[in-house]
Amino acid sequence: MRLNVGYFYSKPIGYSREIQEDYDHLELDDLVVNNLKSTIIASRTSEGLLLQVSGSADVETNCVRCLTDFFLPLEFDFEELYQFPSRTREETDLVLPQDGNIDLRLLFREYLILALPIKRLCKTDCKGLCVVCGANLNDAICEHQSSPSDLVNLEG
Ligand SMILES: [Zn+2]
Ligand SMILES: [Zn+2]
Repeated sequence: MRLNVGYFYSKPIGYSREIQEDYDHLELDDLVVNNLKSTIIASRTSEGLLLQVSGSADVETNCVRCLTDFFLPLEFDFEELYQFPSRTREETDLVLPQDGNIDLRLLFREYLILALPIKRLCKTDCKGLCVVCGANLNDAICEHQSSPSDLVNLEG
């Protein structure tokens, strides 16, 4: 997953290219990703190389209610400027690698984690876990839950 951008060094300012990067399955350290589709617009600027990345992916995460692992479809849209070594002023600036290869794994991992919402639900009506026995209430109703017929009786 390396994007070779070495040929951009000799291109004029304003030169840009669109690159399609798709992956069926990725393991970015601890982050498991399926169906990643991305479009990268790489542009030579006076400062260095600008990458504008957009796309979608299914990212493995866990439900905040029932704690089950599931794949959450996400969309992402970000840009990152890699500066020529002579241009960098601050330590946080990203520098274009000497060999012209940008590691996309690091880039995708960082931005996919940022794209994950705080409230992650396996489905919008996830019933969560029983607070007494910890049973997953999406699979079964345990003895600590009111049965649907009880609810009907209460309302009636
Ligand atoms: Zn859930
Ligand atoms: Zn229970």
